Amino acid sequence: MGILEGIGRLKQGLTRTREGLLGSVARLLLGRPLINEELLEELEEILIASDVGAALSSEVIASIRRRVKEEAMAESGGLLPVLKEEIRRQLSAGGPGSNGDAFSLPETRPYVILIVGVNGVGKTTTIGKLSHRYTAQGKRVLIAAADTFRAAANEQLEIWAKRSGAELISQAQGADPAAVAFDAVMAARSRSADVVIIDTAGRLHTKVNLMEELKKIRRVISRHDPSFPNEVLLVIDASTGQNGLHQARQFASSVGVTGVVLTKLDGTAKGGIVLAIARELNIPVKFIGVGESIEDLQAFDRNAFVEALFAQ
Ligand code: GDP
Repeated sequence: MGILEGIGRLKQGLTRTREGLLGSVARLLLGRPLINEELLEELEEILIASDVGAALSSEVIASIRRRVKEEAMAESGGLLPVLKEEIRRQLSAGGPGSNGDAFSLPETRPYVILIVGVNGVGKTTTIGKLSHRYTAQGKRVLIAAADTFRAAANEQLEIWAKRSGAELISQAQGADPAAVAFDAVMAARSRSADVVIIDTAGRLHTKVNLMEELKKIRRVISRHDPSFPNEVLLVIDASTGQNGLHQARQFASSVGVTGVVLTKLDGTAKGGIVLAIARELNIPVKFIGVGESIEDLQAFDRNAFVEALFAQ
């Protein structure tokens, strides 16, 4: 996919967020040519309604207020560039990894990616999309079906594995998830695979604590190599808003998340959650899901994201 097509898809995928968040900002500014305290308060309300979060919204507005004063800005037309700059600055809080280069893999072979997140957020779909991008780069991909608790999980993963040209490593339902993950890494080594993507459960139907189970998977695969997993991607459904942030906190504190995949951004007008995650958790958003098809996963690029958000 070319860069232009990528931005086009991103713009299209963000239509609802754009119309929601930025449509409101544009409408607000159009009707009110002069900057005053009331206008800034309304801007803050729009940010909160877009799931940016109350504390962060107030911080963004405080910073804009400072700029308005310093630069003796009087006309509201000057607010949009300042707002964009402020959003970009907040998005850089998650550190490197938000620069649109998340699809390029380091030299490590195999590169082991653990996928975590609650059920329904789009883990399986994301695994299929990720796998597709790697196989398209000529990489050999193994997908490990370590969600051994859901009966339908293997079938769905198998469909995505076929579609994306990856090999699936699975065991019978009820098998030990850590054992499936361990075997997949072993298979990757013996078959000289480039990438291992491990699916995990989002909810357990037993008394076993999910976080403990995930920690166990981590521990067991690190016996192959202490650097495994090289990446732990937490999948969050953008349309769940602040609830997603709450989940993220739990996963981040127990399993050491290295990056976030924010799915279903195409289906929500509340894309502000991207800011809240980068800022409050200090974890980079690495990928965004902007649709259900295999091509609808993008490496998150904060500059392209802000441009797409404000594009007409
Ligand atoms: P899992 O339970 O976490 O494995 O979730 P699935 O991968 O099965 O996805 C749940 C639903 O969300 C499915 O209907 C997917 O098609 C849908 N989905 C996943 N990612 C996206 C996305 O980026 N955009 C949209 N619109 N739907 C998505």
